[in-house]
Amino acid sequence: MNIVLLGAPGAGKGTQAARIQEKYHLTHISTGDMFRANIKGGTEIGKLAKSYIDAGKLVPDGVTCEIVKDSLKKTDGGYILDGFPRNLFQAQELDKFADIDLCLNLEVDEALLLDRICGRRMCVCGASYHVSTLNGKDVCEKCGKPLYQRDDDNPQTVKARLTTYENQTAPLKDFYLAAGKLLTVDCGTKNPDEVFESVCAELGKFNK
Ligand code: ADP
Ligand code: ZN
Repeated sequence: MNIVLLGAPGAGKGTQAARIQEKYHLTHISTGDMFRANIKGGTEIGKLAKSYIDAGKLVPDGVTCEIVKDSLKKTDGGYILDGFPRNLFQAQELDKFADIDLCLNLEVDEALLLDRICGRRMCVCGASYHVSTLNGKDVCEKCGKPLYQRDDDNPQTVKARLTTYENQTAPLKDFYLAAGKLLTVDCGTKNPDEVFESVCAELGKFNK
């Protein structure tokens, strides 16, 4: 099963992708994670990507499609794409080198997103938290490492990311709907466990 995971910044794509990967034995491929690894490693791709990411814009399609193509070559079995495609061009390119079974769309009320992302704290182990539930703690509950905030999780960049999502990425819902591949989970005010339950119910329908 090859899945595209769609959702606004802060919708919880990373959290759900980690759970889906585990339950359905899929490889989790996140373009955001790959860009951040490149930035950390000081690569050419990282240098290019950083200016776009800091501005809340999309990294150019050429490099983005290349890194996805490359990682799919190294992948055996099913996968879940998290953060790709992010515009119509990328979606059309993807169809040239991959066989996507379905697009899982996490639908979240936009009013919640700004606070959710700006209050987000991350751990290198992949866990993420919201300041409102940390009671001042600044280390990870799971592994004890110090929490940090992503460089692009500041109000100005987040607003730009949300606009980029609305203008360029949200139209992909129609693209996958027309292809008969769209599954939408309405996240409303559900917590991550409840969202995952709905996700599994949707994926169960597909697996039959
Ligand atoms: P979020 O969904 O919370 O915004 P991501 O980690 O998926 O976070 O992406 C972070 C940033 O990486 C994006 O704002 C964008 O600049 C860049 N990026 C990630 N995926 C893509 C993509 N498919 N195309 C272009 N840029 C991307
Ligand atoms: Zn941790």
